[in-house]
Formats: sequence, C-alpha cells, structure tokens
Amino acid sequence: MPVDFESPRFRQLLQQLSDEPCPDVPDAWPGDQLAQMAAAGVTTWDAPHEFGGLDLSSVEMLTGLQHLASACLVSTFVLTQRSAAVRRIATSSCVAARERLLPGLVAGTTFATVGISHLTTSGQHLARPQVQVVPAADGFVLTGLAPWATGATQADVLITGGTLQDGTEILAAVPTDREGVQVAEPVQLLGLNASQTGSVRLDNVHVAHEEVLHGPVERVMQQGTGGGAGSLGTSALAVGATRGMLTRMEAELQRRPDLCEFANPLSADCEQLESEIKAAAQGSHPAGDAAVEQIRRRANSLVLRTAQSWLAVTKGAGYVAGHPAERAVRESMFFLVWSCPQPVLAANLRELSCVDKS
Ligand SMILES: Cc1cc2nc3c(=O)[nH]c(=O)nc-3n(C[C@H](O)[C@H](O)[C@H](O)COP(=O)(O)OP(=O)(O)OC[C@H]3O[C@@H](n4cnc5c(N)ncnc54)[C@H](O)[C@@H]3O)c2cc1C
Repeated sequence: MPVDFESPRFRQLLQQLSDEPCPDVPDAWPGDQLAQMAAAGVTTWDAPHEFGGLDLSSVEMLTGLQHLASACLVSTFVLTQRSAAVRRIATSSCVAARERLLPGLVAGTTFATVGISHLTTSGQHLARPQVQVVPAADGFVLTGLAPWATGATQADVLITGGTLQDGTEILAAVPTDREGVQVAEPVQLLGLNASQTGSVRLDNVHVAHEEVLHGPVERVMQQGTGGGAGSLGTSALAVGATRGMLTRMEAELQRRPDLCEFANPLSADCEQLESEIKAAAQGSHPAGDAAVEQIRRRANSLVLRTAQSWLAVTKGAGYVAGHPAERAVRESMFFLVWSCPQPVLAANLRELSCVDKS
C-alpha cells in the first residue's frame, strides 16, 4: 500500500484532527485541519502520478477516508468536495486545464470545490434546468444558480456545469473571481457549519474552451467521471463517522459495561459495513452493482442509530450544546440529505416510518 494507515505520521494526523475539532459555526473553516492533511500527503492521494499524485486505488482511498472521518467529519467532508473537483479535472481530456489546475491542488496551495448537485440530486422535479448554457464564439456562457457548493467562499476554482438548449450538459472549471460569479454567504446549517456551504449564482459567466472539462454531452455526470451521488465515498464517510462515535463512546462503556448490550451490535454492523465497502470497491461484493446503493442505505441507518444511541447513553449531559454526542446527532442527519439518491432516501424513509415492518 502506498499509504501506511498505521504509520506514526498518519496516526498523529488522526490524533490532531480528533483533538482539535473545528467549531461548528458558519464563519469557521477547517483551514488548519486541511493544512495538516496536506502536510501528511493526503492531497496527493487522489491525483494522477504525472502531477505528483499517488493515484490511490479506490479501496485505499475509501480506507483513508474512513480513518479521517472517524477523527473529524467536517474537514473530511470538505476534503471529499475538493476530491470530487480533482477527479473531474483529472479525468478531463482538456490537457490545458489539467496542467493549470492540478499542481496547486496536489500541493494543497489552492482549493477547488464542486457545485454540481443541480445536475444530480437537487431540483430534479423542476422543469427548467437550474443553470442554462449557451455557446459563445470561444466557449460557453453560463447563467443560473448552483444551489450548493461547500467551501465556495474559500475556493479558487468551482467545478460546475449546466444544460444547453438541446439537453446536453457541460462541466467547467470556473475561477471564483470570474466576472458574474457571485458566491453567497454560507447558510446556517443543522451541522457541519464550518464547511461554509452555500449557493453560487452565475450571471452570464463566460468559460473558454480550455476551461471546459467534460461535454457537451448528455448526462455529463455519468460520463465515466466517477463518484456520483451516493457513491461508496459517501458511505465511507458515514461509516467512518460511526467508527469515531463508537471510539468516543468507549470511555462511557468502560464505566458502564451494561451498555455493551447496545454498543456491541452497532460495532458489529460498523465492522460489517467496513468490509462490505472494501468488497464493493474490489468488485467482489455478492450484491454486485446493487451493493453501492444497499451499502449507502445501511450506512445512513447505522450513523443515525449510533449517534442517537450515544446521545441516549450520555443522557441529559449529552443534550447540552457543545457535548460531542449532541454534535454527532446533528452531523449524522447530514447523511439523509447529502448526495443521497432517491432510492436510498426512499428506503431510509421506509425504515423511519416502519412501513417494511409487517
Ligand atoms: C451541508 C451540505 C453540503 C453540500 N455540499 C455540496 C457541494 O459541495 N456540492 C454539491 O454539488 N452539492 C452539495 N450539497 C447538495 C446535496 O448533495 C444534495 O443535492 C442536496 O442536499 C439536495 O437537497 P435540495 O434541497 O437541493 O433538493 P431538492 O430536490 O431541490 O429539494 C428542495 C425542495 O424542493 C421541494 N421538492 C423536492 N422534490 C420535490 C418533488 N418531487 N415535487 C415537488 N417539490 C419537491 C421540497 O420542498 C424540497 O425541500 C450539499 C448539501 C448539504 C446539505
């Protein structure tokens, strides 16, 4: 394995991330945590070799994400949005964009994020595309709203896209200081506020041909660019966050062994999902292609159940603002809404409403 997750350096990174959590307020930003990750080489994990990256296999990448999420969910979530941007750039046939953008992203000196949910999960019931694209002499012009972009306030580049009149779509790397790009103030969230998530309005934003990463093509998000909504990466974060909670619950269990009756099944489920994520990434999961969706559904269920169990065992003390259990409950809810494909959401709703019980 090119990354030794048991090495003292990586263990020290996890300890730092876990010991110094980013405050959960909208004007916080996990800049220190991201810098610590970059110093430990994490920003090289997802990039191609030709740009100094390690180009980790998906199993290694998912293992790394689980470790990081167990230590600090918000900074790991921000990292995944940067990774999604890196992946879209790295898989582009546009050599100029790769050469311009990847070196800084690998070094951790620049930051990019994605505002792509309007092409996958957001506003899918709306008749009109949320970002409209028209061809121009030397590129395209984008107008509309990317409703969600994590860390756009901090980003040098936003990977976003839109829909042309003929229904085809493009994805482009748009500098955030480009004329017409308006990054909104981050919205106040139930949790993960330090992700500085908000919308980005595009008002006649011009992108040149060498800024177009993919398309025009139908369903640009499904063009082999990897890691779509509900991917194994999203489950890795839920399972990693669960592992982190179980580890922090450990101290409570030492004092109150009777609680093991409840914690042990959660721990067993967590272990099972950790191994299923690995199997699915290796292509050896018995459920085949259906595994990704099944895993995300169960990972959502597990992270919610674990957070609420932790709150229950910490009782009133855990309900006081600032206790890690109350934060975990709020953060676990994120998985119900983030990059959650409709069938996964429907299955989670069936579980919550107990319709499958009979
Ligand atoms: C903290 C956070 C960070 C995120 N970061 C990013 C990011 O960095 N990049 C990115 O691309 N995305 C990001 N997302 C977006 C995320 O992946 C999902 O796309 C998003 O949560 C989906 O919610 P939505 O409100 O946009 O969905 P929508 O489907 O647009 O729903 C919005 C509203 O529309 C109505 N509605 C929905 N469906 C129907 C229907 N069938 N009929 C009638 N009305 C309906 C409901 O009132 C609903 O509340 C983030 C989300 C969160 C919460």
